[in-house]
Amino acid sequence: MPISSGLNSDNIRVGIVLPEDKINRTSLSWSSGMKITGNIPGLETTQNLDLSIDAGKLRINGIAGTPLIDQLILSCPDKVENLSAEYGIHIDPVIAGRGFHWEKPISVDFPGELKITIQDEQIKIVNTVNVEAYVACVATSEMGAEAPADLLAAQTVVARCWSLALAEAKHLSEGFDVCNDDCCQRYQGTSFLTEHSLKAAVDTKGEVLIYDNKIIDARYSKNCGGMVEAYDTIWEGGMVPYLIPLWDAPKQRPGYAVDDFDDLWNYDEAYCSSKRFESVNLAGMLGKVDVSGSYYRWEQTMSKADILKNLKKYTGLTWQRLDGIRIMERGPSSRIKYLFLDGIDQKGQAAEQMVKSEYGIRQMFSESFLYSSAFIVKNDASLKDDDHVVLRGVGWGHGVGLCQMGALGMALDNINYKKILSHYYPGTTFIKL
Ligand SMILES: [Zn+2]
Ligand SMILES: [Zn+2]
Repeated sequence: MPISSGLNSDNIRVGIVLPEDKINRTSLSWSSGMKITGNIPGLETTQNLDLSIDAGKLRINGIAGTPLIDQLILSCPDKVENLSAEYGIHIDPVIAGRGFHWEKPISVDFPGELKITIQDEQIKIVNTVNVEAYVACVATSEMGAEAPADLLAAQTVVARCWSLALAEAKHLSEGFDVCNDDCCQRYQGTSFLTEHSLKAAVDTKGEVLIYDNKIIDARYSKNCGGMVEAYDTIWEGGMVPYLIPLWDAPKQRPGYAVDDFDDLWNYDEAYCSSKRFESVNLAGMLGKVDVSGSYYRWEQTMSKADILKNLKKYTGLTWQRLDGIRIMERGPSSRIKYLFLDGIDQKGQAAEQMVKSEYGIRQMFSESFLYSSAFIVKNDASLKDDDHVVLRGVGWGHGVGLCQMGALGMALDNINYKKILSHYYPGTTFIKL
């Protein structure tokens, strides 16, 4: 029986520069040894093109006599075996952290084909790249250079499954399969590739997990908080048989984390517990983590005034006062499904507002994006009189599927990547395509 996947070819199309980034000037460059082909003549005479917009068309500065054109297509070879750090076509700038407060321009190198067009009077760049090359780059972008080999291998297989399953397909209407940022999977080209991460990609080439002859929708997040969350707590569409709640630990315990938050707070046997990382360089192994933070257990204070600002921002409602937070339903890991805010509205009337979904809740209780929706209100008893809210929470991210810090904890315990994967995706089968 053939294995089914969501992606229809060996290549994936990644949105790199999007109209919303509002970039109207960009520079492309490459090293002298790089073989570049494209839809304009004279590429062999240059290693640098400067693009701008002129009368709705692309103006190419860098090759004499090139007219204004509608689209520029440049390619370089993209077999995973050919890749190395900074291999490919260098683009400056590319936006990282799109839409978040840490958004910033960076410059990145890409293998494969780049298609540069104009949309909404801004530059748009889509990278069509071999899936194996893409997966190698994603695994590196998600991990640090010092990551143990089994963690890199696990992350590489997961990134491959996620890409081939293409279950989310958020961007098809925009003309590409995935974007380059945390909205899909973070992809920063070959810029940070190491020998180590390339080896993981080549060694696991074609390896995927399947369930019912379908490549699995391999969700993952940074830190589950002790219990892996169920798919249907976070997303619509019912339960997924291999994305189910389980203790992220060597031994399963009876019950779920949701049964007793204090018990969960004190639980430190999980693979992702901070006690496992006391003597390791977490940033070196997990890439861009905020090393000052603690993700397994955290506390955050927010003023009620700032929550009311968010209420206005996300719902349009203007309230005079916030008096209470009623948590209505949680998933097994303790992540909140929905809650109500209680307060006094513009007219001085008692009001309530539902805040639903993990995403909506994380937005509402933070100026940027709350670590997770698995929290309790620590000052619940005095909340009506306090001018702030203290949240006590666990984990970072949605918590479904592979827990990246838990996988790191397992790899540090010398657990093989196939065992790591079968822990997080129970009931799946490992195959090589
Ligand atoms: Zn996306
Ligand atoms: Zn975990």
